[in-house]
Amino acid sequence: MKAIVVGGGIGGLAAAVSLRRVGWEVQVLERAAAFAEIGAGVGVMPNALRALEWMGVADEVRRLGTPRVSGGVRASDGRWLVHLPEAGQERVIAMHRADLHGVLLRALPPEILFNNVEVTGVEELDADLVVAADGINSRLRAELLPDAPGPVYAGATAWRGVAPGPYDLPITQTLGPGGEAGVLPLGDGRVCWYVAAVAPAQAGLDPLELFGGWHDPLPHLIRSTSQVLRHDIYELPLLPTFVRGRVALLGDAAHAMTPYLGQGACMALEDAVTLASVDGDLARYDALRRPRTRAVWRGSRRAGRFGIEVRSRLGLEVRNFALRSVPGSVALRGMSRFTTWQVPSMPR
Ligand SMILES: Cc1cc2nc3c(=O)[nH]c(=O)nc-3n(C[C@H](O)[C@H](O)[C@H](O)COP(=O)(O)OP(=O)(O)OC[C@H]3O[C@@H](n4cnc5c(N)ncnc54)[C@H](O)[C@@H]3O)c2cc1C
Repeated sequence: MKAIVVGGGIGGLAAAVSLRRVGWEVQVLERAAAFAEIGAGVGVMPNALRALEWMGVADEVRRLGTPRVSGGVRASDGRWLVHLPEAGQERVIAMHRADLHGVLLRALPPEILFNNVEVTGVEELDADLVVAADGINSRLRAELLPDAPGPVYAGATAWRGVAPGPYDLPITQTLGPGGEAGVLPLGDGRVCWYVAAVAPAQAGLDPLELFGGWHDPLPHLIRSTSQVLRHDIYELPLLPTFVRGRVALLGDAAHAMTPYLGQGACMALEDAVTLASVDGDLARYDALRRPRTRAVWRGSRRAGRFGIEVRSRLGLEVRNFALRSVPGSVALRGMSRFTTWQVPSMPR
């Protein structure tokens, strides 16, 4: 059985690794001139690590990444809103996105990878299975589900980068008026960071003007980063199906979500392993993946409503009071709500 994967991002490469593992012949077609990944950090959550384990690349991920636990949530002045106990926490592997992409790339033989190939339609692809992993603006999705609405601006813009450090910090999230920030420390002292603010799309904003007064070391992280990436945040309204004929949508092409749970790429890894586990039964893939990704998509939206979107003084006080009142053990349970996912059992 032959599969063609359209898109060589984290989702597409993970699909190729997973399908090959159950015996599919695979080709990956990528429109860019090289297989590469930009971006800053990614937190490989326990659910995603299980998927990588199944793919046979988790040891490499552990070697390149750094196991971290979360320190908790802070207010923009640095006060702790949720301070998490280390005991009972599952570890997140903090790593650079390019490293995760590289691990998947090295797990594939170069002769199945084709760059400079822009797929313009499904018809041109001669395969038993087509995996549309062509990202949030998926051309294949638009062809297969022409009535489904495209990505919608989620009302916030984000900046990301990797600061040189060295720093010794826990993973933290910071919530302030109309904004949030996060730090994901790598093992070598560098720190992946992001800041996001409620703003109109393409607004001409300077992150230092917005976050320069937030607690240390956030302003310093922004200032010391040579290459800051800016992304307006879009989400894909929930689709009625991830499958059409022999085509399966995967990753952001199927369920691009806001980044507030840090689960977007993790979902693409889960998709990939699930697709391999159903061995061509796409109805089952759809049945397994749509409810799961819908729950995480909605969870991320809720996290945004309770986080970045709170702007009024009263709203901030109520939210911060609510967070401070939550016992650490309850917060831990809430955090692990989406990370307990297990790889579906294989047909053989
Ligand atoms: C600000 C921000 C922060 C984020 N933080 C996190 C995080 O901390 N943790 C996390 O898990 N996720 C995070 N995400 C989400 C994560 O980035 C995505 O969910 C993930 O990268 C999606 O991977 P993908 O392979 O589906 O799509 P993409 O990475 O978009 O890959 C699609 C690929 O398809 C190629 N392509 C497109 N069209 C064609 C075509 N017609 N023919 C051939 N090739 C084509 C593209 O060139 C690209 O290489 C974040 C996202 C944002 C915006």
